[in-house]
Amino acid sequence: MRTKIVAGNWKMNNDFNQSINLVTELLAIKPTAKVNVVLCPPMPFIHSVVGHLSQQSNYYVGAQNVNPNKNGAFTGEISTHMLQSVCCKYVIIGHSERREYFNETHEFLKFKVDAVLESNLTPIFCCGEPLEVRNQNQQNDFVKKQLAESLFHLSEQNIKNCVIAYEPIWAIGTGLTASVNQAQEMHQFIRLLIAQHYNESVAASITILYGGSCNPSNAETLFAQPDVDGGLIGGASLKANDFVSIINALENTES
Ligand code: PEP
Repeated sequence: MRTKIVAGNWKMNNDFNQSINLVTELLAIKPTAKVNVVLCPPMPFIHSVVGHLSQQSNYYVGAQNVNPNKNGAFTGEISTHMLQSVCCKYVIIGHSERREYFNETHEFLKFKVDAVLESNLTPIFCCGEPLEVRNQNQQNDFVKKQLAESLFHLSEQNIKNCVIAYEPIWAIGTGLTASVNQAQEMHQFIRLLIAQHYNESVAASITILYGGSCNPSNAETLFAQPDVDGGLIGGASLKANDFVSIINALENTES
């Protein structure tokens, strides 16, 4: 049975009070969750958000970024050990915004994945194609390369500790969502690649999330797809009611 997850990527939104208010509001509406919920606030607020979630089972905190080096002269950066020391459990790696605006290469992401796993944190590894690639029907090759160059060096044990998020770039923050068929096809393809590179049982065990304009109206049909195990949510994770509806949608697919 794969772990079902809804993760909220707050990106560079919310100051301290807004962040704490959002967690408080979320917990007031939904004190228990049957699926795993991962909140990824801006870095300075991770510690406080962890504190607010400490009594809640199934709620975890994730970071939006990490530096793969252990420590040292990397001004402004945050290490895996620092994240671990504040009970952060997940790290988003390879988000298309970081690939684009911070020139993060496949090779660099590979180092990040290694560093995160070495610290017993769980990477949420993002992959997904831009619109021009989708328009040329080259999305499978594009995603295959992303996985091959940043993930498939991992041992069987380590790949099993990764979460993958398929996020078509053309759907992120645009209001355009992949159709349920497009999402299912790509999730199934990712699982096939894992089966080919590792084996069927590894492929069957890995959680694959969908991300890209997922919202309360489309979450349930997306999550009902057999290879979609939850969502990585941007905009809709900033509104407690919407985020809770998305969590409920995933829980409903469980029953
Ligand atoms: C994201 O940035 O990971 C994301 C899925 O954003 P949105 O839900 O706003 O499209």
